[in-house]
Amino acid sequence: MSKGITSKNEDYSQWYNDIVIKADLAEHSSVKGCMVIKPYGYSIWEKMQAVLDQKFKDTGHSNAYFPLFIPKSFFSKEASHVEGFATECAVVTHYRLKNDGNGNIIVDETAKLEEELIVRPTSETIIWNTYKGWIQSYRDLPILVNQWANVVRWEMRTRLFLRTTEFLWQEGHTAHATADEAIEETKKMLDVYADFAEKWMAVPVVKGVKTPNERFAGALDTYCIEALMQDGKALQAGTSHFLGQNFAKAFDVKFTSKEGKLDHVWASSWGVSTRLMGALIMAHSDDAGLVLPPKLAPIQVVIVPIYKHDEELQKITAFADELMSKLKRMGVSVKYDDRDTQRPGFKFAEYELKGVPLRIAIGARDMENGTAELARRDTREKQTVIQDGLEIHIVQLLEEIQENIYKKALGFRDEHITEANSYEEFKELLDGKAGFIAAHWDGTPETEQKIKEETKATIRCVPLGNKLEDGLCIYSGKPSKQRVLFARAY
Ligand code: AMP
Repeated sequence: MSKGITSKNEDYSQWYNDIVIKADLAEHSSVKGCMVIKPYGYSIWEKMQAVLDQKFKDTGHSNAYFPLFIPKSFFSKEASHVEGFATECAVVTHYRLKNDGNGNIIVDETAKLEEELIVRPTSETIIWNTYKGWIQSYRDLPILVNQWANVVRWEMRTRLFLRTTEFLWQEGHTAHATADEAIEETKKMLDVYADFAEKWMAVPVVKGVKTPNERFAGALDTYCIEALMQDGKALQAGTSHFLGQNFAKAFDVKFTSKEGKLDHVWASSWGVSTRLMGALIMAHSDDAGLVLPPKLAPIQVVIVPIYKHDEELQKITAFADELMSKLKRMGVSVKYDDRDTQRPGFKFAEYELKGVPLRIAIGARDMENGTAELARRDTREKQTVIQDGLEIHIVQLLEEIQENIYKKALGFRDEHITEANSYEEFKELLDGKAGFIAAHWDGTPETEQKIKEETKATIRCVPLGNKLEDGLCIYSGKPSKQRVLFARAY
């Protein structure tokens, strides 16, 4: 226990909530299912956004913005899309309030919209309705657009960051002349997500394809990255969809090919959301609080002076100023905490709670000896090092921390992929929090649904590059050609 954080082993879910709240990342708002992202939490999200945004631009995409509201008729045009989202839609029906004469503010029934508007749960429909005006010939293709936005899905069971009614995300929407190109784009963006998760968030992921049951409403194929949390539950961290010509057909978006033939346009869409914050928190943190990979930490290094009187502080500050300017030049974000309102021990606990990767404590004796004390957040190890060349040591250490956090998560993930060869074994593993369970499945939605109802485990994905292997479905005993990954998931 630290600063009132519930132990992870005692109650994982409470531990998660404690970290989100106590590390000042977010809080519940007075609107059910909607959260307030606090400045410290938002600064981590901004770092994620900046890296992803650059990756999208490096792969040829541009940002644009489309309306928050979608006319109901647009929404209904793609049958499986509307069916998939219908139960989660917030609908705007009126545009005015009035005073009823008794001091009550009520909806003005005379101000009813002619056509209801859906608050976007995703933007395929409004975007494809727009693309109709943008695309005539093959020369107009491809369109590679991304939007940073908020969306609303009326979720029944919500959890801070992981599943909220309103969430922040990016959604890429691309248009192509051929199916191959659209599929290539779908896979390329999945790789971008996987690279971001692994190299920046230090979260190992399995790349795979969703089964039809779990597919995005309106997609022909949904690719995903699946991560494993420390309680053995899986988390869908990002999705990339091959939409075929479904939306082009629904919105009548055609183009003339080089050969002069008229055809519907091919599409992809892909998104990651503030759920990534949840993944980041859950994947690495411990009972002392948040553990952040240096590459996404808003403050990478904090320097805490330890002093008895002003003269000592001045010496430490002079050294810290110089160190900070060197570190800043090397691209390290560093904070000097010389508040005299808090004791060093309090500050140490606070930065541990907030996941600052590296803490430097410098006292009067250090100044005499030309040393400093470094404390790593990931291992909580301390070492005394010489001040000379400290900035180089720090940069190396940050890289080491990034790598170590990833390796730890990878080790955990790899230890938590287990094969099950019977339904009994499968259920035992699930109850033992085994993580991903690789098992044979007969390929039918019925079997998948039954397993879900009986165990709450879903097929997370069919891993890409899965090796083929003859076997029997753990549920129906029917033949199967490969194992798929099951898990209970967030
Ligand atoms: P989708 O459009 O359903 O493929 O979702 C795109 C991304 O948003 C995926 O990475 C989902 O995991 C994530 N996501 C879906 N629903 C929510 C939610 N209610 N809160 C936060 N993230 C979500």
